Amino acid sequence: MAVSSESICEALERIVSRKYVSGSIYERIKNAIDPFPYEALKEQVPYATVMPANAEEVAEILKFANEKKVPVFVKGSGTHLGGASRPHEPGIILSTHRLNKMEFLEDYGFVECGAGCSCASVAQEVERRGYFLPMAPGSRLVASMGGLVSNNTSGHIIDTSIGKPGDYVYGLEVVLPTGEIIETGTMGLRRPAGTEMTKFFVGGDGLLGVITKVRMRLLPAMKRAYGVVVFEDVVAMARGVQRMYVEKRPAPLLMEFLDRKTAKVGYTIKGLEPPPGAVIFFVATGNTHQEATGKVEMILQSFKAEGPQSADLIESIELWNKLWSAREVIGTFLMQEGKQWSAAEVVSNLKSLPECMAEVLRFNEGLPLFGQLELFIFGHIGALTFHPGVLIPREWDNDRKRQAVKERFQREAELNLKYRTCGGEWGQFSKRTNFWVQRYGQVSYELVKKMKAVFDPNNILNPGILEGYR
Ligand SMILES: Cc1cc2nc3c(=O)[nH]c(=O)nc-3n(C[C@H](O)[C@H](O)[C@H](O)COP(=O)(O)OP(=O)(O)OC[C@H]3O[C@@H](n4cnc5c(N)ncnc54)[C@H](O)[C@@H]3O)c2cc1C
Repeated sequence: MAVSSESICEALERIVSRKYVSGSIYERIKNAIDPFPYEALKEQVPYATVMPANAEEVAEILKFANEKKVPVFVKGSGTHLGGASRPHEPGIILSTHRLNKMEFLEDYGFVECGAGCSCASVAQEVERRGYFLPMAPGSRLVASMGGLVSNNTSGHIIDTSIGKPGDYVYGLEVVLPTGEIIETGTMGLRRPAGTEMTKFFVGGDGLLGVITKVRMRLLPAMKRAYGVVVFEDVVAMARGVQRMYVEKRPAPLLMEFLDRKTAKVGYTIKGLEPPPGAVIFFVATGNTHQEATGKVEMILQSFKAEGPQSADLIESIELWNKLWSAREVIGTFLMQEGKQWSAAEVVSNLKSLPECMAEVLRFNEGLPLFGQLELFIFGHIGALTFHPGVLIPREWDNDRKRQAVKERFQREAELNLKYRTCGGEWGQFSKRTNFWVQRYGQVSYELVKKMKAVFDPNNILNPGILEGYR
């Protein structure tokens, strides 16, 4: 069979109902792009997209792909910010969209959901039953559970408070790149000690298998209390965060930072008086309201020692919702029509946080293209993470946009190497392969490549991510 869009669609229609296979040029181009600001290269446009309904159909697609040596790119919602959801070469886009069943096994203490369920849909159902989903990315309305688990990212939630989503994943259904279906984990409330296959796929960057079902522990919802801190001097603000840890304050569930310019944008859009400095919003949890409030007060003590303009416990939920909406709206602002947001992920270590903050303020200095644009900085400062970014003009041509993105990855890598960190949200490969080799060495990289070859001897699944995108 000569490989063409038509022949691939024909074969896929023998596996999956015809209406869930598409070779339309619109679908193919739509699936060739991602949040990066530049267009797809012609030679990366996929042959077809397919939406299987279950693990068995996924298995048949992968077996076919192995037989014909056609790459398969798994797609949740395509919102990955490090290039992992952009196909590297022509292939099949396997959308997890129809893997969207959700089952509550409260007697066992779990929710089981298809990889294609959106984070928001699972969170909503979990919360309705009095539980809490330990995932809160800015993209939660669309980001898929499979995408989040394969990245092992909790978004805004701070690792030091409740860990990563993977800590709550008790089992998976996975289709291996060669087409076998396996189950991992346990139905018990004690996770397996020793070798545990779940760990290969959680945070596996979509390299080792297609996750079709996720089993997560149901966490009882906690009471929440809120704090807001404003600083003119952001380096002092960073020292406040450092103090919070050094002074052994309970880590908040989330702690978000907006620099003064970004805060002004958010507050203005929401019709609020902009704060006189940079802002931190944070949430602490407890078994009782009093416990949560006590934690906020303890954290505020650490900030107060660094001379903020204000450091307040927010007692009214209405006021908190209003202020928090100024943070929430930033994503929409950055994704507005006319410009395209491009940001880095810089992570500091605790000791260097004030120094890192000072460097992040100068993130784009000296960069030929990225440096021409106005810098907006926000981040998950409680997780010592910053997203310094710019709005790239749409009228820039593709080469210029690509070059600008390359510059930001290089600067990001310099800083993460300097602070001996590795990013905590956007995965380790794709646009970061060079960084990974520098950070962990060729020996480690070769080991990951060998592991990939064991799981995926024909390099069928998501080729390009490990090798690094152009
Ligand atoms: C506006 C916006 C805000 C964001 N905010 C955050 C944030 O706060 N924190 C954060 O961490 N990220 C954030 N992101 C990034 C992104 O949403 C996450 O990386 C998310 O995990 C991607 O999920 P997805 O369903 O879109 O996955 P995709 O982008 O479709 O896929 C990502 C990778 O996972 C693989 N994959 C997807 N599903 C599966 C599966 N079932 N099995 C195996 N591999 C799979 C893909 O092949 C690809 O390699 C944001 C993105 C946007 C656009």
